[in-house]
Amino acid sequence: MRKTRYAAVAFAAAAALTMSACGGDSGTEAGSGETGSGSGDTIRIGIKFDQPGLGFKEGNEYTGFDVDVAKYVAEDLGYTEDQIKWVETPSAQRENVLENGEVDMIFATYSITDARKERVGFAGPYFIAGQDLLVNADNSDINGPEDLNGKTLCSVTGSTSAQKIKDTLASDVNLLEQGGYANCVTAMQGGQVDAVTTDDIILAGLASTDANSGKFKVVGNPFTEEQYGVGISKDSDQCEAINTAIRTMVEDGSWEEAIKANTEGADYTYNDELNPPEPAACA
Ligand code: GLU
Repeated sequence: MRKTRYAAVAFAAAAALTMSACGGDSGTEAGSGETGSGSGDTIRIGIKFDQPGLGFKEGNEYTGFDVDVAKYVAEDLGYTEDQIKWVETPSAQRENVLENGEVDMIFATYSITDARKERVGFAGPYFIAGQDLLVNADNSDINGPEDLNGKTLCSVTGSTSAQKIKDTLASDVNLLEQGGYANCVTAMQGGQVDAVTTDDIILAGLASTDANSGKFKVVGNPFTEEQYGVGISKDSDQCEAINTAIRTMVEDGSWEEAIKANTEGADYTYNDELNPPEPAACA
């Protein structure tokens, strides 16, 4: 008896949470998978909130390359900007929120990997970056992963960047894991770490903010290939439609316009031998 009552209370609380997570739009049910109708529904898109130039929240404004690609794709699927509900998806949360049906798509510097494909689906890629290192502007002894012996590095829990360090340099470096890369930059500023590691485009964006200007530099020696995919649930039927939107974005020049506008002012040029990539065949 008791148990049932408790369960009912828990269920009601969960339902209330789900409703508030939908921003009060009763037309959109979490995990319904109903995208593409554009008939007053909303689409929930996962992005980063703390990566300038990629996914960044300032007040009620969302900016960055991931945001621009997401808006373009959403529009192609039949959603206006007003119908997008932006949801913060930190690196370690991405598979979870897709599995739980809390978001419809993720554009969050989200590398396509076989391990992640066990749990989620991917459209794209729409960009290729490379893992690199960010160090203090006056640092001259760290020029690549071979110089990290005995150093303390910062990266983010649940990222391919942290995994790469664990897989290849675990015995040589101390790894501090944070929830986001901006926190890593703060740790470096406080002298707690010697370098921050993740994708070059993320590091360049963080280094280019007014607050960080002149303080840090990206080493410029990328040592992985990170294919940014659009995260979708494993049973989503939107992969083809998303890939078509990405191709159109490249063909009509919007892709190039977006990458240029969002890296302007950063010390970064994308690898034009790898970009723009051709979206892979859908599973
Ligand atoms: N692209 C890498 C990843 O998906 C690193 C950046 C990130 O954590 O978002 O894990």
